[in-house]
Amino acid sequence: MDYFPVFLDVKSRRCLLVGGGDIATRKGRLLARAGARLCVVAPEISAELQTLAEQGGGEWHLRSYRHDDLDQVVLVCAATDDYALNERISQEAQDRYLPTNVVDSPALCSFITPAIVDRSPLVVAISSGGEAPVLARSMRARLETLIPQQYGQLAQLASRWRERVKQALPEADRRRFWEKVLQGPIAEQVFSGRVAQAEEAMTEALDAQDFVDTRGEVYLVGAGPGDPELLTLKALRLMQQADVVLYDRLVSPRVMELVRRDADRIYVGKRRHEHSMPQENINELLLKLAQEGKRVLRLKGGDPFIFGRGGEEIDRLAQHRIPFQVVPGITAASGCAAYAGIPLTHRDYSQSVRFITAHLKTDNPNLSWPELALPGQTLVFYMSLIGLSDICQTLIQHGRGESTPAALVEKGTLSEQRVLTGTLADLPKQVAESEVHGPTLLIVGEVVQLHRHLGWFRPGENDSQKTDDSED
Ligand code: SAH
Repeated sequence: MDYFPVFLDVKSRRCLLVGGGDIATRKGRLLARAGARLCVVAPEISAELQTLAEQGGGEWHLRSYRHDDLDQVVLVCAATDDYALNERISQEAQDRYLPTNVVDSPALCSFITPAIVDRSPLVVAISSGGEAPVLARSMRARLETLIPQQYGQLAQLASRWRERVKQALPEADRRRFWEKVLQGPIAEQVFSGRVAQAEEAMTEALDAQDFVDTRGEVYLVGAGPGDPELLTLKALRLMQQADVVLYDRLVSPRVMELVRRDADRIYVGKRRHEHSMPQENINELLLKLAQEGKRVLRLKGGDPFIFGRGGEEIDRLAQHRIPFQVVPGITAASGCAAYAGIPLTHRDYSQSVRFITAHLKTDNPNLSWPELALPGQTLVFYMSLIGLSDICQTLIQHGRGESTPAALVEKGTLSEQRVLTGTLADLPKQVAESEVHGPTLLIVGEVVQLHRHLGWFRPGENDSQKTDDSED
């Protein structure tokens, strides 16, 4: 280790900053965030830096550096573009044993500043010892995505409760208690902004001494349409901390690879004719696992609240007061449309979009076909492969033009994605000839014709020669 890592308390203490340009301003911001009283010296000083100095009870001087600027300061930063001057400041400051930093000149520094992830009071500092700053910054970017923004609030909660927990629990139990709190439902409540409930849960947990077997929890998470890059940060975080995962056919293997390695995996099926586990059993299993104290991840394709029966699954949990959270995902309609270059709405062609389940019969009284057949709207049919021909015919019968463009997107967003385009009149025939398997999504409306212009650049798209309408 080339440097000794420390966190310095500069609150209300004078810190000298020599320089007034962009780089000095950046340093100044950081020092001000830590509560420093800035003393800024430079022939020119940015307006922001002047304000920062004034707000923190410091001062600024429009002149060159002088030796006596080092009087009564606890720290020195030089950020001028004059190497000789930087060198002189470094020499003089270190002669006085002051911690000294010269921007971009590690040789002139007695300390260097790390890249930071700020979740105050929790702060992560990363340093490559000045050897590979770009690497340190990319590590920071990765941590930024992994550590929830509300981590600071969790640390604040821990700090508020520290004394009380200390009084209430013997040392041996304390660590386990905090582990439960900081990794369990209470932490999740803080992350989702429900701090008041988290406080209540803390009181309950302490009163009940219920810190060994706290209840489990369930995360109902949308895994998106297939491409793992379409997962949300929240989905990824919960996937990394689950003890057990229940998933079905629509969750792509590449998404499953991102689930914590040692989590138990339970396949609950759901192919059209292969209900490997009836819905009622899934609901029961979720409840049972949570009651055992497990963190249960229910991973669903797309968005859990769009044709996903997510509502039924959490209903049972709510009855039994099991904590749960629902994480939205990119639904197949958004994913397939974007990756196929079909905007779902468009000022010129379509002013609204409807998501429809085709799992229903075309004579279902709940679907108003005359309404669906009106122009100027986009229709997206989920679960539509079997009923495709029926749907197209019924739309035509109710007045939607035979030449209305329609597309079937197969395995949308995955590298095997195929887009078959045609019209209401001829799409079913094309599909019948093309060995389509699914999952597939049917998009009907004038916007589909834009696929020609917007769809060409999609890498990995694999339109079949026979059925594609592209012109090459
Ligand atoms: N909750 C899911 C939908 C579940 S219903 C969501 O929000 O996307 C299952 C149907 O979704 C499938 O029959 C198919 O119509 C559609 N679907 C899901 N993933 C798809 C994909 N990658 N490509 C095409 N259609 C998909």
